[in-house]
Amino acid sequence: MDEFEASLCLALETKKEKGLLRHMRTVEENNEINIFSSNNYLGLARDERVRQAAIQAIEAYGTGSGGSRLTTGNLSLHERLESVLAAWKGKEDAILFSSGYLANLGTISALMMSGDTIFSDELNHASIIDGCRMSRARTVIYRHADMRDLELKLCNAAPEGKKLIVTDGVFSMDGNIAPLPEITQLASVYGAWVMVDDAHATGILGETGAGTAEYFGVSDGVHLAMGTLSKSIGTEGGYVAASANVIQYLRNYARPFIFQTSLSPGVIGAALKAVEIIQTEPVYRQRVMANAEYMRTGLRKLGYRLIEGTTPILAVVIGEAKRAVEVSRCLEGHGVFAPAIRPPTVPEGTSRIRVTLSAVHTRDEMDRALAAFAAASNEI
Ligand code: PMP
Repeated sequence: MDEFEASLCLALETKKEKGLLRHMRTVEENNEINIFSSNNYLGLARDERVRQAAIQAIEAYGTGSGGSRLTTGNLSLHERLESVLAAWKGKEDAILFSSGYLANLGTISALMMSGDTIFSDELNHASIIDGCRMSRARTVIYRHADMRDLELKLCNAAPEGKKLIVTDGVFSMDGNIAPLPEITQLASVYGAWVMVDDAHATGILGETGAGTAEYFGVSDGVHLAMGTLSKSIGTEGGYVAASANVIQYLRNYARPFIFQTSLSPGVIGAALKAVEIIQTEPVYRQRVMANAEYMRTGLRKLGYRLIEGTTPILAVVIGEAKRAVEVSRCLEGHGVFAPAIRPPTVPEGTSRIRVTLSAVHTRDEMDRALAAFAAASNEI
């Protein structure tokens, strides 16, 4: 082993000692196991109609788009999905990226630059953090969902340059909802724009499932409505909906959009069908919310500490990383797959089991999961 590789092994050893080493595994290894941690909240990733729509798109257009959107990879399917997403989010236009991660990275780094200021919630997703870093704008982190802290920081900010407040709509690891009415109000007072990452709220919150802004009735106060196709929509890809000028700007300046091969036809076909189902069949989001409430009540009765929330993401806080791993292993031994979430994904001392519900979980599956949690609390 040379010095180069030895330094990598040392870094891995350090992670291992802290109980933070990660391993991958396939989820189809064990058919008996019940998954309680997927982001496929509505079950649409396996829906027969969505699968058929993907197959039809592949039959019509092939498996790969063969180029970037600005060269040979622009299909009418892409443009159709962008207009559907824009209308759903109450915006003039939308732009697709190959993932939610790249939507954040590409959008923030293209819009914000040196001399500008970004105000970012401390629990925002890694892709927002990386977008802020890439932008070279000044990034001011405000305490999680703390509006007094945000206002103080807006007040003390340098007067020159553009200002952007960016927040998850539903926080991915805590499951709580960002206080958007207050955020949009502060933004208008201090002349800032608002960007909301609705990865976990799209398909879940709001009258038509359009997300956090619709839920609160503040869509007009959100300038950049970002989301992903990889969770409720059951495929992959990311997008931002905004004014026509902003989208035209992003098509010209967002590097992941310009230089990446566009999303493949099957993905777009599936997404179009999934969005149609979400918009016309509210029963899916009603079911997932009812399932989440059932599990939340059951876990609290067992004595587990949950972060307050009303969404399908339940954060069961265990504390130490090693202990969270033990709980997760024990759950797995009882047929439930809900991995431990540890630093750096969540703050030190708040390692947790992230339980997520799906519209297609049955009462029987949830009761078995609760029994597994009961066993884990006895055994550990
Ligand atoms: N934002 C949030 C809040 C997320 O949770 C995720 C995915 N975990 C992303 C963005 C990235 O989306 P994608 O997985 O589609 O790249």
